Amino acid sequence: SFQNVSNEQVGEKSAAAFARAKEAMPGGVNSPVRAFRAVGGTPPFIARGNGAYLYDIDGRRYIDYLLSWGPLIAGHAHPLVVEAVTKQAQRGTSFGAPTEIETELAEEIKRAYPSMELVRMVNSGTEATMSALRLARGYTGRSRVVKFTGCYHGHADSFLIRAGSGVATFGLPDSPGVPSAMAELTLTVPYNDIDHLRMVFEQYGEEIAAVIIEPVAGNMGLVLPQGGFLQAVRELTRAYETVLIFDEVMTGFRVSYGGAQERFGIDPDLTTLGKVIGGGMPVGAYGGKREIMELVAPDGPIYQAGTLSGNPLAMAAGLATLKLLQTEGTYERLEAVAKRVSTGFVEAGMRAGFSVQAHAIGAMFGNFFAAEPIVDYESAKQANVQLYSAYFHEMLSRGIYFAPSQLEAGFVSLAHTDLQVDETLEAMDDVMQELRR
Ligand code: PLP
Repeated sequence: SFQNVSNEQVGEKSAAAFARAKEAMPGGVNSPVRAFRAVGGTPPFIARGNGAYLYDIDGRRYIDYLLSWGPLIAGHAHPLVVEAVTKQAQRGTSFGAPTEIETELAEEIKRAYPSMELVRMVNSGTEATMSALRLARGYTGRSRVVKFTGCYHGHADSFLIRAGSGVATFGLPDSPGVPSAMAELTLTVPYNDIDHLRMVFEQYGEEIAAVIIEPVAGNMGLVLPQGGFLQAVRELTRAYETVLIFDEVMTGFRVSYGGAQERFGIDPDLTTLGKVIGGGMPVGAYGGKREIMELVAPDGPIYQAGTLSGNPLAMAAGLATLKLLQTEGTYERLEAVAKRVSTGFVEAGMRAGFSVQAHAIGAMFGNFFAAEPIVDYESAKQANVQLYSAYFHEMLSRGIYFAPSQLEAGFVSLAHTDLQVDETLEAMDDVMQELRR
């Protein structure tokens, strides 16, 4: 059975590097998922990347479908991104003073996201969502926030909250260190469940500062919004004068150039961005309606700042990446590649007799070993963890690098072509047959 498949196939140098790293950093990593706890085993240590490929320190090559968890939509070390960063580095790496390149990136974001009338750059997606929430609270004078179970908005206290059961259950912290007084202000609702959201609003509507949502969910695997769901969320938040925050850190410039809000035709009050807009450098941004954004310091009283915010290297990498995405037909091509990967997964799985589900939109996909459709966190959690873990390690040993958990999205880049996908689908077929044995 699939449990017998070995999952300790990492190279000797990576194994040694991991042992050493664990003596210096918690879990040997600087972000928990990198430690492979969800699938077991040892992560390969990376030496370099090029296009669609990653190379580890043992000299092994992988087709990369994780792409630094999303930012590298142009692929690794794209020559034009590298050139932009290099040129900027030669002029200086940080000034802590205004530069024109910040305005250039802000203007490009405004063009692509008409709902973002003013934009503030920060250094990560976490900073973006945290700052957007403070702003929504300051603007409305209310304290509560609604999030959807299984959506991830970074690691700020207000968002590390899991669902309780029943209507309007107060949130419980997911992590020690989040004060319960803070967690209580976060209400959680199942994704795609508009009736549940409506009930929460009937009870607490006048106290809710913001609803924050991943308009396409990418942190419970890839889960799509059902028809009419986002529109209903927009109508409800408008009726209660609650700020609607679209967290497009993952979907921004990915499900289309204008993000999920363009694709689904929704006009949110605030939007958070990250990942792609930094082209692989640390960056985030939040922005939205002028009336709200004008409350941000120094125009208004709501404080938010950053020594490295609007960092010129990050702005340069982001602008170069966005330029590459502006070619006609880019998103059709990206989506065709993502769909080939998800369809291939379903076909290979079915040939081997497994229950499988898959989604794809824009440059992202989600593959699950599950019998029932995946519409929310509850259904995503039903997916078979051991089977995914065996599949993941078998694919990795064949040089295909997927997310080390099926509750994470997969990504494709401009550098992924039929060549890499053909190799991937062959490996999938092989692995599925082997897991069946
Ligand atoms: N929001 C979403 C939708 C994300 O996917 C992420 C990261 O995966 C974040 C926020 C947090 O971004 P960062 O990891 O840059 O802090």
